[in-house]
Amino acid sequence: MSARSGMEGFCKVCLHANNEHYTAPCPATGCLNRWKECTASNCFRERPKSSKSAKVCFGCKDHPACRENLDFSGDQIDVPEKQNEDYAATGNAGGHDDKGDWTR
Ligand SMILES: [Zn+2]
Ligand SMILES: [Zn+2]
Repeated sequence: MSARSGMEGFCKVCLHANNEHYTAPCPATGCLNRWKECTASNCFRERPKSSKSAKVCFGCKDHPACRENLDFSGDQIDVPEKQNEDYAATGNAGGHDDKGDWTR
């Protein structure tokens, strides 16, 4: 089953269509980062060992503990350009790595 979020473009991390992702605002007060999970069944990122849900491409590196409390049901907008730029610079988007572990 694939998500149909309606977002355009492609994910900078896994390169799948954004339409196959869901995003959620970071629950931390005042945080503008967004969390982003890929639901593509052929995603190169393996399903996380410890999770029932999809692979997280982007996490909030400022608030990693918030991953237990995400709501992906709201408005679907992609992560801020700041997060894309940080990933381009560091190679770490704060989500799952290709083994399903959380990056730091
Ligand atoms: Zn992705
Ligand atoms: Zn945050």
